[in-house]
Amino acid sequence: MVKDTKYYDILGVQPTATVDEIKKAYRKLALKLHPDKNPDNDPEQFKQLSQAYEVLSDEKKRTLYDQVGEQGMKEGAGAGGFHGSDPFDIFNMFFGGSGGGPFGGRQDNRGKNLVHQLAVSLEELYNGAVRKLALQKNVVCDKCEGRGGKKGAVSKCTTCNGSGFVVRINQIAPGMIQQMRSHCSDCDGQGEKINPKDKCKTCDGKKIVRERKIIEVHIDKGMEDGKKITFSGEGDQEPGLEPGDIIVVLDEKEHATFKRDKTDLHMKMQITLTEALCGFQKVIKTLDNRQLVITSLPGEIVKPGDIKCVLNEGMPVYRNPMEKGRLVLHFDVKFPNKNELRPEAVSQLEDVLPARSEVTIPMDAEECVLEEFDPRQSQRSQRHDMYDEDDPRVRGGPTQVNCATH
Ligand SMILES: [Zn+2]
Ligand SMILES: [Zn+2]
Repeated sequence: MVKDTKYYDILGVQPTATVDEIKKAYRKLALKLHPDKNPDNDPEQFKQLSQAYEVLSDEKKRTLYDQVGEQGMKEGAGAGGFHGSDPFDIFNMFFGGSGGGPFGGRQDNRGKNLVHQLAVSLEELYNGAVRKLALQKNVVCDKCEGRGGKKGAVSKCTTCNGSGFVVRINQIAPGMIQQMRSHCSDCDGQGEKINPKDKCKTCDGKKIVRERKIIEVHIDKGMEDGKKITFSGEGDQEPGLEPGDIIVVLDEKEHATFKRDKTDLHMKMQITLTEALCGFQKVIKTLDNRQLVITSLPGEIVKPGDIKCVLNEGMPVYRNPMEKGRLVLHFDVKFPNKNELRPEAVSQLEDVLPARSEVTIPMDAEECVLEEFDPRQSQRSQRHDMYDEDDPRVRGGPTQVNCATH
């Protein structure tokens, strides 16, 4: 039993979620909540998401969290406490491009990576596809070659001596001083100044301009949800820095018929009782629009919940697309409704089906009535005398008590 579900709630997953489910949840939310994606995003929300992911994606930290909860983690369970990494480091580590620092993430000498999510259908992942993606990126201004103004018009800021920072010394108490480093307001932290009349008109002295760029994303057969496709050096440019990467993350859309599990494709197949007992034929349309005919073996009986598969009709294997996984069929048998069987048909059925078993009824047996089962109602009728109808404890209250004792 998990002590505190907050981190799971932030990620929108169950406490029983697998590592893959946690990664997927983080991926989707991080791309939505990242402050770069939307200036209205609350940085605190992004920070909490990162913290939840950092803990739950690490087996040791997750086990500890499950035992002691968030408060317990912060108080440290004797190990100095958990403070969480920089949310942007976690983001960069997760989506990291081709280069960067020791973690493939932090890049002090490179422009920003641009991460884009691309929703793709199962059909596209099965057949392969080329998708065009339009995006905005920063490029170094051509007109001024990234200087921000005419040659020689740029001079070092005298206020900060070119560093972009100023250090202020505050006396906070007699004999105690505090050093404060802050952005130089004269040059806006740039370390240099441009005479307004010499400013480059194309980029307004900013050295970079926004540019619309269209990239072609090649989706190969068998690629999986979460696959990252990196366009090296195509990310944001900044003067004097190596450009970052564009990273496209594939987001597999749900399919109406098939549910994918790596290279297997699962689908539900409903058959009637007649088909289950007497045999059936079904046609399945594949993701590349072929028609498959499925025929049951003569004399075979399919029971509800039976699982069967067709080899080599699943998803193609990435980089080896001639090989495919399995198409897995989960059978559901639809029984006739109440009034669909005529009384005479019932006796005919009895003649052909295996005989029912004899039952001997003991003398002291008690007669019971079979009712329709409604889980909510039965809970309430048992507890009716203990709680009021409106008492919030009635809803699921007793069930939770049961869980805790497991
Ligand atoms: Zn310019
Ligand atoms: Zn300055």
